Amino acid sequence: MKYENLANQNEKVSFKEAVLKGLGSSKGLFVPEKIPVLNKAFYDGIESQNKAEIAFQILAPFVNNEIPTEELKKIVEETINFDIPLVNINERTQILELFHGPTLAFKDVGARFMARCLGYFSDKTKETNVLVATSGDTGSAVAQGFYGVEGVKVIIAFPKGKVSPFQEYQMTSLDNNIKTLEVEGSFDDCQTLVKQALADEELQKRLNLSTANSINVARFLPQIIYYFLAYKQLKPKLKNRKWVVSVPSGNFGNLTAGLYAKAMGLPIHQFVAGNNANDTFYHYLETGLYQPKASVETYANAMDVGAPSNFERIISLYNYEHHKIKLDIVGEVVSNQEIVKEIQQTWEKDNYALDPHAAVGKIAADRFNFKDAYVTVLGTASPTKFDSIMKKAIPNFSDAVTPTYNNHKEEIANSFDEYKRYLLDLKN
Ligand SMILES: *Cc1c(COP(=O)(O)O)cnc(C)c1O
Repeated sequence: MKYENLANQNEKVSFKEAVLKGLGSSKGLFVPEKIPVLNKAFYDGIESQNKAEIAFQILAPFVNNEIPTEELKKIVEETINFDIPLVNINERTQILELFHGPTLAFKDVGARFMARCLGYFSDKTKETNVLVATSGDTGSAVAQGFYGVEGVKVIIAFPKGKVSPFQEYQMTSLDNNIKTLEVEGSFDDCQTLVKQALADEELQKRLNLSTANSINVARFLPQIIYYFLAYKQLKPKLKNRKWVVSVPSGNFGNLTAGLYAKAMGLPIHQFVAGNNANDTFYHYLETGLYQPKASVETYANAMDVGAPSNFERIISLYNYEHHKIKLDIVGEVVSNQEIVKEIQQTWEKDNYALDPHAAVGKIAADRFNFKDAYVTVLGTASPTKFDSIMKKAIPNFSDAVTPTYNNHKEEIANSFDEYKRYLLDLKN
């Protein structure tokens, strides 16, 4: 299977090239040429397989034998070597807790897989520079995932003052092959810097560049796995009820992975895309028009994205047909006040601490009042990462004390020239 560039149909690359390059020419995203469908026997027998076995069968067709079976099995096993429980919070709703990895957010899954693939593929004689933009959780997951990986340097750009202290701690405390840049700007500005750098000929020539944002196929493909792990846990009681999955969304990597899972045959009836005030996708669902805008800050900060990167992947999956997208995905927009109220109510009623992002997912799904359905909300991060917001809803929320630490960040303006100079200087 080849990967094609959505901006340039003549560019078809292997899995390896897609991972190493991150982004294709003309800033185009890579997508697999076709999506494999898993056979009935796989679905029938899913309960008898363990996590790693399930994950291997999902990812193997995308990797195309470009990593030998035994090696890929090992990579997959290490990628998800933590619990991914489906927790019932009421009769209808479950939270798929994706935050039991090292940095307490789902991004560990993609970051761990990508770091290992890159480690396997990279030319050991030439250092690879991985550029990342983050609204908080990607940076920490990628930093942890790549820390100490030989031949790979990671440069993380994050928006000044817009990540939580805990997130900043997780990113900036490592150093060595992990560099952090605090940018005087928004997440979208950081993402623009990264895309511009990847498209810059001089940088490409002088540095061996890649990216670990969910634009990289090795980031979003492993996220397909956990929809199947949720199914395995739900299946015994699913019977004839419908299954709805609610995805709190920012850059839409998670939702894209979910749509891939459905295309592979997983019986998901419908997706709910929960947006915070950054409602570009919601607006698209309503109008058919894609109008990216500047991001605004919210309590669900990992979703403060005004120009979602994976939008292109979603529309290409549906052949650019708006009405087909609307059959599979419904959307909602959720305010800060509603987030706080939901966290409070779920705590009081169900004795469960939703983090601000999962709260968006739950509110969005509840608005539809799906009949005869189970609703799975992705629990994208641990509430302990968002202490100050949790305390607005649950005054005695036991703290995740942010430790004192060495902060290794450097500051730059929102300027491509400054960013480029920094990258070129790293080489010396
Ligand atoms: C990154 C992130 C999201 C958004 O995920 P996308 O795949 O970018 O849509 C939601 N919640 C948390 C906690 C995150 O870290």
